[in-house]
Amino acid sequence: MTLQNSKFSHRYTVKQILGGYVVVDPDGGHASRLIRFRAEADQLRNKQQREADKVAKRGPRPCMSCSEVFESEGIHNRLCPNCRGQRDYLGDFATPHATRSARKV
Ligand SMILES: [Zn+2]
Repeated sequence: MTLQNSKFSHRYTVKQILGGYVVVDPDGGHASRLIRFRAEADQLRNKQQREADKVAKRGPRPCMSCSEVFESEGIHNRLCPNCRGQRDYLGDFATPHATRSARKV
């Protein structure tokens, strides 16, 4: 399992700044006002992350190919990293020789 090292670049984070904390969106912009307490900032971060994940349909999803549950990056992402890494996950339909022989027919 390689859930941890999958490139997950849609995370909201909490950054400490002068006088408190701010929630930082995935693009690096501030996504909240100045928050005095870390716990409150974490809570807001989690809420914003949940909402963003829901909109993008990110989260655990069974792989279309092997059915293993993986951390999907969105509705477009339906293959686990293992299956995505294999060039022929579409089977013979995606291999060059299949395309060529299909044209000959
Ligand atoms: Zn898979």
